[in-house]
Amino acid sequence: MTTNLDRLMTLIVLLAATAGCGAPVERSDVLITNARLIDGTGGVQEGAMIAISGDRIEGIFSEGEPREGDLTIDAGGRTVMPGLIDSHVHVIVDRTVVDQETLDEYIENSAKRNLADFLAHGVTTIKSAGDPEDAILELRQLIEEGKVEGPRLLVVGPVLSAPGGHPSVTLFADNSWVRERLVAEMARVEDVKETIDRLAGKGVDGVKIVYQGSDDGSQTYLYGDRISIRRLPREIMEAIIEESHRHGLRVTAHTFEEEGVIPVVEAGVDSLEHGVVVKSPVSETVVEMLREAGVFYIPTLQVFRAAEARGRAMANLKQLSEAGVKIVLGTDTVGSTPAGANTISEAERMVEAGMSPAQVIQAATRTAAEHLGRGDDLGTLETGKLADLIIVEGDPLENISVLRTPWMVMKDGRVVVDNRQE
Ligand SMILES: [Zn+2]
Repeated sequence: MTTNLDRLMTLIVLLAATAGCGAPVERSDVLITNARLIDGTGGVQEGAMIAISGDRIEGIFSEGEPREGDLTIDAGGRTVMPGLIDSHVHVIVDRTVVDQETLDEYIENSAKRNLADFLAHGVTTIKSAGDPEDAILELRQLIEEGKVEGPRLLVVGPVLSAPGGHPSVTLFADNSWVRERLVAEMARVEDVKETIDRLAGKGVDGVKIVYQGSDDGSQTYLYGDRISIRRLPREIMEAIIEESHRHGLRVTAHTFEEEGVIPVVEAGVDSLEHGVVVKSPVSETVVEMLREAGVFYIPTLQVFRAAEARGRAMANLKQLSEAGVKIVLGTDTVGSTPAGANTISEAERMVEAGMSPAQVIQAATRTAAEHLGRGDDLGTLETGKLADLIIVEGDPLENISVLRTPWMVMKDGRVVVDNRQE
């Protein structure tokens, strides 16, 4: 039998339970508290809270909001920023790979470790700028399904080049197995549609052409043994760009010379890998073309080991960055190059070339995401975007090298690297 006293006691208990918290507490899967936030849109927010639900950012709040998380991470005032993007890597290219068996071995023993190393250095997205076609698509699938741990992988499949072009007659001159799978050698304009249809059908994220050398092969490779390189005929290059765009695929072009840059930009290419490296400075006409067309420029400074070439690449980067050309970080990491660590080394080289740490961070986050056509999902920490983020000690805006040892890395809202001292 319920008495008035019982009812009164129930009411008092209920009042006591809600007393002291005016608003109801909002609950998220993950809540990062006490963060110094570099969201990637410019500026720094002290005392931020980042709420994550599933794989996306639910909201960004100020400290003191009534919020809780199933998992709460106290960042302790450390810097939280978007995960890094390396826009030029080769995941399964190595001199040991010569057939299916050695490829499988390489993936098992080396590529998987490299993918983990990218994550360990805060690199949560990579773009394969040319790998054996079916194998790289399969690896992307395995990462998406969570069967292989690694950064988000975007792929172009093979590179499209001329018969007798780079890398067929340079890197893979003695390796026909990889050459056949990594290079689509385009001899006739009639073949373009079939090739792009095939790649689009397999779901590539973009298309890459190599536009280096000359029509008659009189140009030689920048390194090594004066190997003559044939360039794609101009009408084939133009057809590739047109056909790719018809499929909604962005096109990136490997170039070394201004003679290569001008025609691809005129044909509507979206980005340049390496860019202009055989001369310095870049001519004002080309600088203006790149800025006007909004072409993304991926300098891959570390490719150029000889002091002279490195010097030109760095000077050209400084010139183009100051002129307002959109710069994107890419390393050309391949084989036994230390994955991830190399990405941070490239960031350091870009600072050394004259960019500010803030500009370099932008080149590895927001601008890189735009370059990939993934600006809606990636590159900044904002409500609704994918929760790919890193937490680092120290201030990367002062010292880019603090990125070398992240305290925590999160991809798709999941902690994938945790260096907290328990
Ligand atoms: Zn490359």
